[in-house]
Amino acid sequence: MDAKEIAAFKKALLSLRERLMGNVNSLHGEALGKNRQDAAGDLSNVPFHMADLGTDNYERDITIHLMENESEAVRSIDQALAKIEQGTFGVCEGCTKKIPKTRLVAIPHAGLCLECQKKEESEAGAS
Ligand SMILES: [Zn+2]
Repeated sequence: MDAKEIAAFKKALLSLRERLMGNVNSLHGEALGKNRQDAAGDLSNVPFHMADLGTDNYERDITIHLMENESEAVRSIDQALAKIEQGTFGVCEGCTKKIPKTRLVAIPHAGLCLECQKKEESEAGAS
């Protein structure tokens, strides 16, 4: 990922954080799939296509889930911002592999790749 992409993700994270702090309702609208491009913030100049976004129900569920855990979401955004500063943004906390860019566009503060996220959720559900 180059500096320009990182900068775009940082911007998206900051605007997402702002919205989480201020108004959960706007996030709700986005979760229902009104305008994904707007939801991702100012990423229009990033050199990959928004059409490639993972817009499946799983990603949407996460967004809805996040609304219920607002402070948790803000915390993970802060972590993602810290990772940008440390240069470890986009690396999965579970398997240390790179998180796919499409996932990061949908969820800029994702700390886990989809596989690790699913694993964590199934483990949480089993207990
Ligand atoms: Zn992983």
